This record gives sequence, C-alpha cells and structure tokens, in this order.
Amino acid sequence: MSKILIFTNQQEESLSPGAQEALAFGSRLASATAGSVEAVLVGPATEAGAKEAIAFGASKVYTINNPLLSEYQVELYVDSLFTVFQQSDADTLLLSFDRMGKDLVGRLATRIGASAITEVTDFRTEGGKLTWVRPIYGDKAYGEYSTTRPKVVVGIRQKSQGPAVPDSTRTGEIISVDYSVPLEVVITKLVVKIQSALSDIRLEDATIIVSGGRGLGGPEGFQDLQSLAELLGGTVGASRAACDAGWVPSNLQVGQTGAVVAPDLYIAVGISGASQHLAGITSAKTVVAINTDSEAPIFKRANLGVIADYKTVIPALTEKLKKVLV
Ligand SMILES: Cc1cc2nc3c(=O)[nH]c(=O)nc-3n(C[C@H](O)[C@H](O)[C@H](O)COP(=O)(O)OP(=O)(O)OC[C@H]3O[C@@H](n4cnc5c(N)ncnc54)[C@H](O)[C@@H]3O)c2cc1C
Repeated sequence: MSKILIFTNQQEESLSPGAQEALAFGSRLASATAGSVEAVLVGPATEAGAKEAIAFGASKVYTINNPLLSEYQVELYVDSLFTVFQQSDADTLLLSFDRMGKDLVGRLATRIGASAITEVTDFRTEGGKLTWVRPIYGDKAYGEYSTTRPKVVVGIRQKSQGPAVPDSTRTGEIISVDYSVPLEVVITKLVVKIQSALSDIRLEDATIIVSGGRGLGGPEGFQDLQSLAELLGGTVGASRAACDAGWVPSNLQVGQTGAVVAPDLYIAVGISGASQHLAGITSAKTVVAINTDSEAPIFKRANLGVIADYKTVIPALTEKLKKVLV
C-alpha cells in the first residue's frame, strides 16, 4: 500500500495541466496499489485550487500560502515540499516533469534521501512488485525500472496521461500548513524579470506549433515563422540549437530537455530531427518538415515533407494562406 503525495500548483485560477496529469497518474497508482492520494498546493494556494485537487482525486490537500512562494523560487519550493513530505509520511512524491519538475526532482530526491525516476509514463504492479515505465533511447523503446530506496520521487512525463476528469462531488480535507520561510536556505534570487513577446508562450497547450532550428541561420528567420504561426492561430517553437544560439528564449525549446508537446500540427523548419528533439513531439498528430536535406531524420517522423530552402517555402506558404484564411 503506497502513500502518495502529489505536488500541485495553480496557473491563473486553476490547477496547472501538469498538476492535473500528476493527480490522474496518482489516482490510478493508488487504485492499483490500494494506496492513498494526498496533494500539496504551493504558491498562491487558494481554497478553489485545493478543492480542484480533491475533485481530481486527492483525499487531503496541504496548502502553503506564503507571499514569498507566489513566484517560483527553487530553494524555497524544495524546502516547503520537503517539509510537507515529512509531515504527510508519504513514500512516493509525484510531480509533473515539466520545466519546474525538471528543476525539482533531483533536488527533492537528494533532500529526502529517495530514489528519483524521471519521464515516467506508466507503472506496472505484476507479481505485487511496483515498477515504473519510461521511454528510453529517444522514445524508441520502453524500460521498466524498480527503485532501491524506500522512498521515491517520480517525474511524470508531460502530456503522457489522458485528460483527467474531475468529480466535484468528491470531498476531502484541506490542511493549511504553517510554514515559516527559512530565508537562510535561499542562495539564488530573482534580480530582474525580462518579459519578451515570446516569454509567456506555453507550448504544452498549443494546438499548432511552427518550430525553427539551426537551419534558419539566425534570429531573423523566426520573424517569418512568427507571421506564419500567427496566421494559423498557433505559436512558435524551436530546437535546442536555436535556443542555445540565443535566437529565441529557452522557453520555446521543444524536446527531451525542453517542452513535450502534443499539437494537432507541428511544422519543423530547418530542424534535422535529432532523437532528443523528436522525444518532444511523439504525441504531435501531424508533422510537416521543411528541410533542404532529403536525408534529414525529421522526414522519417514527418507526415508531410518539403525538401526545399525555408526562405522560399515559408513566405510563399504565408502568402497563399493569407488569401485563404484572411
Ligand atoms: C542530453 C541532450 C539533450 C538534448 N535535448 C534537446 C532538446 O530538448 N531539444 C532539441 O531540439 N535538441 C536537444 N538536444 C540537441 C540535439 O541533439 C540536436 O543537437 C539539436 O536538436 C539540433 O538542432 P537543429 O535540428 O536545429 O540543428 P541541426 O541538427 O544543425 O539541423 C539543422 C537542419 O537545418 C537544415 N537546413 C539548413 N539550412 C536550411 C534551409 N535554408 N532551409 C531548410 N532547412 C535547412 C539542415 O539540413 C539540417 O537538417 C539535446 C542533446 C543532448 C545531448
């Protein structure tokens, strides 16, 4: 019987999509192991958020509502989650392996003295033994892992769970945790927040993504992609090479170490299709690739391929679509 604690956070008024997925996964795990599901809500933790966590399956929700936690701050989030984990006496800490989760999983496992496992998509309970399932070799295979320590921190791969269904008739307990912020643990602080037009984009929620890679040759090419994305009602994404070059902010990175996306349409422009990039688009419904190299691996994943220079294809496509759509 496992006792599961799930890290949840709010995004605007409701629970973040990652928190909903983690709750869905946790509820499934609890049913299979006769376990219990509790949640911890950090940051701006409203009663509505706690009730939503209950509707998504938690029987108990710990809320930590401190103004200093309203902005994500890694040391304070680790410390507050550790505090609640100890209080709850859970053995499993589940969280979405999104941008925040990628920052937190290793740190939390070290602090707790737990095993850590990331990118988990499923679990098995055959023979009474719990194993965690996660994709390996750039999603070409799945591995099943057991952990060696009594406690485990599990990062759930984004977009790997079906849509969670809330049940507003569910009831549960809400516990407000009196957490005093230990400022001595804070070793980093937000000095300045630079807001660019692209920094608010949440690729995980986009239904159409026009992504650019090193093949664009510089930041200017992204303006063409932006025009096309706007016309389609979509958003711009990028490969790690384009982000590392500083052409676009890193929140636009798609892939194993960036966002895992599930759009209806993914247009990959000047992206070779490295396995780490493809790991971020396994759930994309239709992939269109535009690349000068007919041997580029992206064409193996693409439903539709255009072997050509993007400088000729993108403006022509944009003009054509303007005539049809505007
Ligand atoms: C641990 C690890 C994690 C990683 N995580 C990620 C990740 O999350 N996301 C990610 O993207 N990468 C990731 N990478 C990097 C990855 O391995 C690749 O290096 C990267 O994806 C390459 O980016 P790219 O396709 O833009 O560039 P390239 O591989 O250089 O490809 C550029 C492509 O543009 C094409 N091209 C050139 N000119 C034009 C033109 N005018 N018109 C059209 N096409 C053109 C070329 O034919 C080529 O195929 C990771 C690597 C490691 C080791």
